[in-house]
Amino acid sequence: MTKIVNHWIGGKTVEGASGTFGPVTDPATGAVTTKVAFATVDEVDAAVRTAKEAFATWGQSSLAKRTEILFRFRALLDANRDAIAELITAEHGKVHSDALGEVARGLEIVDLACGINVQLKGELSTQVASRVDVASIRQPLGVVAGITPFNFPAMVPMWMFPMAIATGNTFILKPSEKDPSASLKIAELLSEAGLPDGVFNVVHGDKVAVDRLLDHPDVKAVSFVGSTPIARYIHTTASAKGKRVQALGGAKNHMLVLPDADLDAAADAAVSAAYGSAGERCMAISAVVAVGAIGDQLVDKIRERAEKIKIGPGNDPTSEMGPLITAVHRDKVASYVTGAAAEGAEVVLDGTGYTVDGFEDGHWIGISLLDKVPTSAKAYQDEIFGPVLCVLRVDTYEEGMTLINASPFGNGTAIFTRDGGAARRFQLEVEAGMVGVNVPIPVPVGYHSFGGWKDSLFGDHHIYGNDGTHFYTRGKVVTTRWPDPADAPTGVDLGFPRNH
Ligand code: NAD
Repeated sequence: MTKIVNHWIGGKTVEGASGTFGPVTDPATGAVTTKVAFATVDEVDAAVRTAKEAFATWGQSSLAKRTEILFRFRALLDANRDAIAELITAEHGKVHSDALGEVARGLEIVDLACGINVQLKGELSTQVASRVDVASIRQPLGVVAGITPFNFPAMVPMWMFPMAIATGNTFILKPSEKDPSASLKIAELLSEAGLPDGVFNVVHGDKVAVDRLLDHPDVKAVSFVGSTPIARYIHTTASAKGKRVQALGGAKNHMLVLPDADLDAAADAAVSAAYGSAGERCMAISAVVAVGAIGDQLVDKIRERAEKIKIGPGNDPTSEMGPLITAVHRDKVASYVTGAAAEGAEVVLDGTGYTVDGFEDGHWIGISLLDKVPTSAKAYQDEIFGPVLCVLRVDTYEEGMTLINASPFGNGTAIFTRDGGAARRFQLEVEAGMVGVNVPIPVPVGYHSFGGWKDSLFGDHHIYGNDGTHFYTRGKVVTTRWPDPADAPTGVDLGFPRNH
């Protein structure tokens, strides 16, 4: 029987009224297992109305109450790691251990939100002028929305809503229609933790739902994570409507390997970061830039490791890499490999046409490794978002840096070297938001912020960390004078006030 995933509005599931549903597929079998309701404009409006009503009380609630609920939610999330990971694997396809990893990284942001009282501490300057004090405080915005991608159906929503609700906002999540179940489980856990109805809502759907959120006058801010073209669209559209926007986009993350690097460590890192989650990570390494004469040796080491990766269903504990999200996406990924030789690349490993016995209808693709890829090749220029690693060869550090900085993307990057001076230079010169030194996927911990540069992020704020607190609050500065009854009246003074 096909499962139905409905909206979550006002603390309960709400059946989709439009009768329009999207199919959710198990990527390992290719079978449609679930139907997800697609929200109409009226349904989005109902969610916003509910969230606005809830904001009237939640925005005024004490920090003690908010954090008490968040601590309870943290405990429930911890106890339900496996259940959430199973939902992720069933709809996304990633292996269970990887799904558990994303829950763990999402939980880090809940940890951060549990300590929101420290981050929301204001500033007070006393006696800035005679008997005058100045306080800076931050207040919530109101109803805020989050629009999230398929590749982290639990973690990316958790980059957003814990900070949003901890700071006193109410939240509407529009998760990816490809793997919607994890968000509903999270909604249930929040409710079980005692979150008042209407503070966290989920509307499922496609462009209709997104566009209404971008247009709705009562939605004060939009957080988006997804592909670059949609991130750009979200930023332009929501900004034009006067909303605060952070829109994180796609990536092409480079790993620069200097000749003095530990090549075994570099090859381990490249393989883990390129093929983990079948390359469907915005922080995946998709381009290795080999400097100097080490290229052949490095490619051999990467190939030896990559060939051993066990591909299979995500719920099989022996699988290291699962299928891709859809058959259409699998075919698109394959087209980059098929076209690579004609574009001048050497195809070292060709993963196209791969299948898994007993799961022939799954969205499988094997491991692909392309060497000596020219920068003109589509396989280099586009974000492939699959298990395809491009190796590019350069002669010098400078040439590598020029190549990396010429990329329109600037999400994450890494350098592998034993030379501290070169690593320091790289940190300062590279145009990317997140840098790893001998670390291939430098996803910042929760108490730092996550975000890219250039076409990988539109807006001023990175996500979570201090930037998250700032994004979901607005500043207010209060200047106070309490005159002493013994003071003489100041009298009328039309001059511009000066402090003395
Ligand atoms: P996507 O852009 O297709 O979809 C993201 C969200 O936008 C979904 O909720 C989807 O329903 C909605 N959407 C899609 N098309 C739309 C349209 N025309 N109008 C309005 N809304 C629309 O992205 P995806 O395929 O789900 O996710 C993969 C992409 O996300 C990759 O490019 C990846 O790099 C990126 N990503 C980036 C980060 C980051 O932190 N920078 C993190 C994760 C994923």
